[in-house]
Amino acid sequence: MQNNSKEELMWGREFSDGWNNLYELLLDELKPYNVKIVQAKEKYGLLRVYCEPCPAEVENILHRCEDISETVCEMCGKDSSLRKLRGNWLKTICHDCCKIHSLL
Ligand SMILES: [Zn+2]
Repeated sequence: MQNNSKEELMWGREFSDGWNNLYELLLDELKPYNVKIVQAKEKYGLLRVYCEPCPAEVENILHRCEDISETVCEMCGKDSSLRKLRGNWLKTICHDCCKIHSLL
């Protein structure tokens, strides 16, 4: 049973707005599996999502989502790549957002 409404899931997320589209696509893709999302967060610059239960098919979908998140700016959703910021902080963020948030 999928108990969480989409609004609750979007509210409980721990990542920035640039990944909202990616995350919504993921939610749609996961719908047929009736899994519960335990956590959705940014970790080492990637979008990591944890489901219960997590059968192999779901794990594949989550891994694909992680791979895609490495190409989408977490702040604005534009094409981007994983980069190392000050203090070895890994973040998938585009050049413009780095400048806006003074991360370079
Ligand atoms: Zn950006």
